[in-house]
Amino acid sequence: MNIKRFALYLFRWQLSTPILAPVVSFFKFGRFTFGTPQDWLGAGVANLIGGAIFYWVDRFIFTSKSLDVQWEVKSNVECADCHKVSTGYRIAVVKSKDYDKSKDKNPEFRCANCCKIKARELGVMF
Ligand SMILES: [Zn+2]
Repeated sequence: MNIKRFALYLFRWQLSTPILAPVVSFFKFGRFTFGTPQDWLGAGVANLIGGAIFYWVDRFIFTSKSLDVQWEVKSNVECADCHKVSTGYRIAVVKSKDYDKSKDKNPEFRCANCCKIKARELGVMF
């Protein structure tokens, strides 16, 4: 874990405290105020807890290899490799590999077995 990055991330969450505290106060009092010291303390602590949790969620979203791949599935298609007719799978995009067949005019679908082989060649999980 990069402690500097984590600290910066928690600081970034604190930037929403001046928004959160007055909004909480508005709904509590039914009119606009800048919030009580308790509203500010509560918002600051909530943002600390939120930051500590969502650091991991956001890190997964922005770095996960599984979200890097875009699949297409089609029923009753002929496999491009073994010619068996079954549910076909196609890897349309692998962002990190600069692989983009999303606008392919003749998309090739493969059966589950052949797609596993193709996925292995591209270094992605099937
Ligand atoms: Zn096949």
